[in-house]
Amino acid sequence: MTDDPDNLAPPVDPAPKRWLCCHCGGTGVDSYAESCLHCEGLGFC
Ligand SMILES: [Zn+2]
Ligand SMILES: [Zn+2]
Repeated sequence: MTDDPDNLAPPVDPAPKRWLCCHCGGTGVDSYAESCLHCEGLGFC
């Protein structure tokens, strides 16, 4: 038996935690404002 840390580490979901904003499409810019109000200009929500 070996204590390989790789075997002890829990499975990690490779999927990103953030997603492109469904309002501005990830640009962070809104057509009516400088920054998208849905994601506050971050581009993710
Ligand atoms: Zn959004
Ligand atoms: Zn947005």
